[in-house]
Amino acid sequence: IDILAVETSCDETAAAVIRNGTEILSNVVLSQMKSHKRFGGVVPEVASRHHAESITQVMEQALEEADSTFSDLSAVAVTEGPGLVGALLVGVNAAKATAYAKGLPLIGVHHIAGHIQATRLEAEWEYPALALVVSGGHTELVLIREEGQYELLGQTRDDAVGEAYDKVARTLGLPYPGGPELDKLAKTGDPSVPLPVAWLEEGSYDFSFSGLKSAVMNTLHNARQRGEEWAPEDVAASFQQSVITVLTEKTARAAAACEAKQVMVVGGVAANSGLRAAMKEKFEESGVKLQIPPLHLCTDNAAMIGAAAYINWKKGNFSSMDLNGVPGLPLHM
Ligand code: ATP
Ligand code: MG
Ligand code: FE
Repeated sequence: IDILAVETSCDETAAAVIRNGTEILSNVVLSQMKSHKRFGGVVPEVASRHHAESITQVMEQALEEADSTFSDLSAVAVTEGPGLVGALLVGVNAAKATAYAKGLPLIGVHHIAGHIQATRLEAEWEYPALALVVSGGHTELVLIREEGQYELLGQTRDDAVGEAYDKVARTLGLPYPGGPELDKLAKTGDPSVPLPVAWLEEGSYDFSFSGLKSAVMNTLHNARQRGEEWAPEDVAASFQQSVITVLTEKTARAAAACEAKQVMVVGGVAANSGLRAAMKEKFEESGVKLQIPPLHLCTDNAAMIGAAAYINWKKGNFSSMDLNGVPGLPLHM
């Protein structure tokens, strides 16, 4: 079963051909990073325009690299949400047009289900499986007891962790996109700056990062008022430590409480070197299998959408031609 998958929810125009939900025949990602860099963030209008300009070419390239034609395909899949509405619509319309013209079934996929299913491209799962989703717009603990069922255990009450990374990076004067830059800088510093760790109520699997973000800003500001300056690499290391402490600890607690057989860390921030190392250390001796996708499958791509679409295909879960882009699409299915 070969599925052509399309992803345009944010600032990557991506298409992939995935066999049986696990084998990557092609995975094309066109990043718009350079266009958004001078604005210091993703500009929705600019994103939609770029998607519209390149979607056809990216889809053709995915087929070409997979050495496949439309007649080899079993379905066309696309991210239907969440994401930027104008960006989503470009992918949804391209997928609908293709499915209609070639007489193929259409499959709408949830972007976060995609991030989670990215781990399927690497190895089989054991249930119950626990996913820590850490991305630009989401920070959640999701329990999967059986294939395609997602149970939300906890989520951020304010900023997503990727958002906090990007904002703190900007405060430190780092170039966009801030997450990877802050990660690099943190490696050279000491976590010597006193910053809070947001545990919230006992037993809660929710997260909060806006207090930490404000604490970084206040700490820098107060030092400047005294005519002092914290070393940016130490601020970065301290911020990263606070984030990683709470993410690893809450994931471990949830894994134990749910008797998870495996834990996954997914989404753009799963590319963070400190988080990857801390998770490995935490789960190494616990007997719980840990899966973190390789870097190029952590950030947005269409291979993960093809992996998630295969589950829908197996269940006969197809979308109709009135499929729409839904910016706030919920994960529960
Ligand atoms: P969502 O998936 O929630 O819809 P998104 O698709 O915009 O949001 P992703 O592409 O999954 O988000 O992830 C992008 C985020 O990951 C950005 O906030 C970016 O700064 C962050 N990120 C990427 N690499 C790293 C890293 N090495 N360390 C920390 N953050 C990182
Ligand atoms: Mg992106
Ligand atoms: Fe994403």
